[in-house]
Amino acid sequence: MPVRTITKTMSTETGHRLTNYSGACTHFHGHSYKWEVTISKNVLNGTGFIIDYKILKQIMKDTIGNLDHAFLLHSKDPIFSTIGNENMNGYEAERTVREILKAANGEEANLHILPFNPTSENIISWVADALIEELNKYECNLVKIKMWETDSSFAEWNQPQQDLHYEGTI
Ligand SMILES: [Zn+2]
Repeated sequence: MPVRTITKTMSTETGHRLTNYSGACTHFHGHSYKWEVTISKNVLNGTGFIIDYKILKQIMKDTIGNLDHAFLLHSKDPIFSTIGNENMNGYEAERTVREILKAANGEEANLHILPFNPTSENIISWVADALIEELNKYECNLVKIKMWETDSSFAEWNQPQQDLHYEGTI
């Protein structure tokens, strides 16, 4: 049976830097990430939708949108031990970084300190978990996430076909 999907795109301006890596991405920098989210549901609603595009847009805003004008750091980033002092535990060092940024900005920094290195591959897995949780409320399947880091590079997250749950025939 053919699989019907819908896809919506959005963009975020997101900064990051990588740890455990030698190359340009160890520097503080950002990307204009372009996101494509594809979902499916075999049984269409009374209107004939998988889900209204505007609901998918809102779901993406509530999840991926949190990454817009945000900065992603690995919790193991050496910056925390550099800015903090050696007696601080990781949490205290993170709090110090947040306080410095808040003092500089006058508001809470949009800083995500993550338990993983913020590579495209890790970011899409993290985003997939958040999207799946939201899409479950509408009984929709997440089929694919495509995240363009640059014009020539993208990462994909694909739901294994056997994990898609289709019911009914319409
Ligand atoms: Zn980068």
